[in-house]
Amino acid sequence: MRVAAIVVAAGRGERLGHSLPKAYVPLCGRTLLAHAVAALAASDRVDAVLPVLPPGMELPADAHGAKLLPAVPGGDRRQDSVAAGLAALPDGVEWVAVHDAARALVRPAAVTRVVDEAIRHGAALLAVPLRDTVKRVRAGVVVETPARDECWAAQTPQVFGIALLREALEKARAEGRTGTDCAQLVEALGVRVRVVAGDPDNWKITTPEDLAAAERVLEARR
Ligand code: C5P
Repeated sequence: MRVAAIVVAAGRGERLGHSLPKAYVPLCGRTLLAHAVAALAASDRVDAVLPVLPPGMELPADAHGAKLLPAVPGGDRRQDSVAAGLAALPDGVEWVAVHDAARALVRPAAVTRVVDEAIRHGAALLAVPLRDTVKRVRAGVVVETPARDECWAAQTPQVFGIALLREALEKARAEGRTGTDCAQLVEALGVRVRVVAGDPDNWKITTPEDLAAAERVLEARR
């Protein structure tokens, strides 16, 4: 087994306003987690998919498939959930694709592209260029306007050599740092993370409006 995907689904996702954790919310009759697992497994570059669940919860029955590994419970922060997934991977895994269950619309072709780029260069993520000008704001005041043509929105999967990702998580733990994605922790090692153009519809489903928009995307794909 060379490439494993870790699908982090242990967040509560309260902004979705649902009683269930976000990954268990249905989208066109299937849980977000099942959509994400199926999309990753559909890339022939991915050998196995390991879900990381909210502690105490079972895998949703509609998340299945030949590539699925037994699910494990996540942790308090996203990076703790990634670490729990990493610790449960079988020996022999060389590359790890970390994916947010909330990005249920990811396309298998994009998964393949980002895995291939990571295998060529060591670390890669999907991202899309931003349309809006970005402001860094502190206490209601603009402190910086980064050049728009250098601003991209990071997506997942983000793919790394397994030893590199382990080292990045360990360094963040030792230094008490929290990252909002894995790439940020790998960048802190001084490693160059390659950017692969993602699809605009691979957004993180966060609000009820996102869920409704995701339904429209899936219906249009049929
Ligand atoms: O909270 P955020 O939007 O960054 O979550 C991104 C992804 O990470 C989601 O799929 C969520 O389920 C997962 N996550 C996790 N464990 C946490 C927090 C978030 O698996 N403690």
